[in-house]
Amino acid sequence: MLKLPSVFAIILTQLLLLLAGCQANRALPPAPLAVTPSVALKNNTGAAGLGDPLYPTLGNGGYDVLHYTIDLAVDMQSHAVTGTTTIRAETTQALSSFNLDFQGLQIQKITVNAAPANFQRAASELTITPATPLRNGEQFTTTVAYHGIPRAIDDPGVPFEKIGWLVYQPGIFVISEPSGAMGWYPVNNHPLDKATYTFRITVAKPYIVAANGLLQATFDQGDTRTYLWEMRNPMASYLATIDIAEFKVVTAQGPHQLPLRNYFPPSASQKMLATFDTTGAMLQFYSDLIAPFPFEAYGAVVLDDNFSTALEAQTLSIFGPNTLFDAAVAHELSHQWFGDSVSVKTWRDIWLNEGFATYLENLWVEHTQGQAAFAATMHNLYKSMKDQKLGPPGSPDVQGLFAPATYVRGALTLHALRLRVGDANFFKILRAYYNRYQYGNAATADFIGVAEEVSGEQLDNFFNTWLYADAVPPEPRAP
Ligand SMILES: [Zn+2]
Repeated sequence: MLKLPSVFAIILTQLLLLLAGCQANRALPPAPLAVTPSVALKNNTGAAGLGDPLYPTLGNGGYDVLHYTIDLAVDMQSHAVTGTTTIRAETTQALSSFNLDFQGLQIQKITVNAAPANFQRAASELTITPATPLRNGEQFTTTVAYHGIPRAIDDPGVPFEKIGWLVYQPGIFVISEPSGAMGWYPVNNHPLDKATYTFRITVAKPYIVAANGLLQATFDQGDTRTYLWEMRNPMASYLATIDIAEFKVVTAQGPHQLPLRNYFPPSASQKMLATFDTTGAMLQFYSDLIAPFPFEAYGAVVLDDNFSTALEAQTLSIFGPNTLFDAAVAHELSHQWFGDSVSVKTWRDIWLNEGFATYLENLWVEHTQGQAAFAATMHNLYKSMKDQKLGPPGSPDVQGLFAPATYVRGALTLHALRLRVGDANFFKILRAYYNRYQYGNAATADFIGVAEEVSGEQLDNFFNTWLYADAVPPEPRAP
């Protein structure tokens, strides 16, 4: 675990590095760390951040990405990549230059609208200056050709693990939350700028490539094979994944003919395979509870590695060997609605992902094991919150992003809300909130707004007590 002062030191160093880069390359005034649009507009340079309170340099302003095409050959001996990422985007202001987030790897060439473009790099900011400035509202295409060995990212929000492009004995996997995407492709690296994706990934046989969405085709070239995957719904960059190993692939059909494809280690035991037997029933349960499943396919990648995390990559949740149990399977599946389809507006809103998934995994417990088991689980969650004096989940610092408060007190906030407004109103709130923000982004205030609108109650005090006050609230009970 990283201690608090060292986390601050890391953040400070990163910001200073970035600031130094800005000053050297673009002569921006040093005051605002996240370059404000008003400053940027004068020079028609896109902002180097999107104003996230926890990650001011993630994402970039001045344009909206529509589609990424990530075309990479991956050498499974050296783990080096060679390829091109093509980004189709639309400007939201006139731009003489714009930024992407991209860390490590060597850039060979960048084009904008097929003409060679100049570029500069400073830490994870890549500044591209097109030969011809871009007009406001213009659609443009930029290609970045690059090569090298992608390195995992140290993220201050995830002190317990490296993230991004990760190598393990059987192959490669990608778990990027929150900032890891920029370690393997140039990206507008914030959930606010979702886009659709094409992945064209070439590997030596007999390796298999799994990625988000639907596998459209494979192309054989003698010793190598190219996998073409399409993600046709908008996706936040941290949910993009490619996973390469000699998988055992198991396909099935979920409710409403939803394609299910699970990727297991070749040595997977019957017990490991059986972990996902309940996926179809869970899909039915959450679809009935919230809304139809948001995407075109679902499934899991199981890692045969000492990796203790799971991640709700869009349409393809990734599980370490220590997370192969029913509640974790339910947790990652429920994130497809809350986290993937409805994504956070800023990383400070993380309880909208983790509190929701933790509560929804327990709604599966209620559904399958009954009221008494559910009540006991909620009581135990409350007890652990009280024993650990878990603070409020509403505005975490970066090192508190994935702390127990986010999960446990976040879930209990929803439970307390349910007991306060009653079952009928509570599930109406969940559905209304989902329907309003699906395929987009929401902040905590948006959820509170829906809760007040649907219940007809003034809930400021309630949410302040649960989300923002230090004191642990009394155990929620039915009135
Ligand atoms: Zn989660």
